[in-house]
Amino acid sequence: MAKSKSALNPSEKVTEVHNQEVVVLRWGHRPQRDVRLTTHVALASRALGASGFVLSDVADEHLKETVEKIVASWGGSFSFAMGAKWKNVVREWRGGGGVVVHLTAYGENVQSSDVLERIRKTGKPVLILVGSQKVPREFYSPEFTDFNVAVGNQPHSECAALAIFLDRFFLGQSLGKSFENAKLHIVPQVRGKKIE
Ligand code: SAM
Repeated sequence: MAKSKSALNPSEKVTEVHNQEVVVLRWGHRPQRDVRLTTHVALASRALGASGFVLSDVADEHLKETVEKIVASWGGSFSFAMGAKWKNVVREWRGGGGVVVHLTAYGENVQSSDVLERIRKTGKPVLILVGSQKVPREFYSPEFTDFNVAVGNQPHSECAALAIFLDRFFLGQSLGKSFENAKLHIVPQVRGKKIE
């Protein structure tokens, strides 16, 4: 790796692409209440370098349709699964050789610890758990998770925590990547909008 610091200075140019597989699991989604926020968590996952999303324990067809429409138009391969029990997803992930990261304000701080570097060093596929309501105590247990990671030790938002985690984990590279088979493509402009 060209950069292995836990805190990436955005002004430093990093040329390396970090290709570790990441899938995001959203726990605690309440279809009546959380549809907008969970949609944002899924879209942020995709835009910032994750290759898939699991909506655990519940199904939400509306959410699935929204995410699939975005993928169809804006490209890339991004898996969407829903309904499986979170413990089963975690067991299967670990059984397949992956590691599990729980994003929580109580965990090891991404800025002041080397936790990101240790996760990268595993070289294993990463399943990231994000909550909504208060998560079950097992989320903190080594029986289910390998790392408890805090994006600052203040409680804030699953979407913000996930976005910052992914941006740092992928060394800022996800924001510049292109998505294959895209029907729509934004051409960055100083002003106005240009879509090809
Ligand atoms: N009130 C809930 C509790 O006490 O556990 C947490 C609600 S918080 C809005 C929802 C999710 O955002 C958490 O489960 C966690 O995944 C994520 N989150 C919030 N702040 C975070 C932080 N500072 N670092 C990492 N994840 C965070």
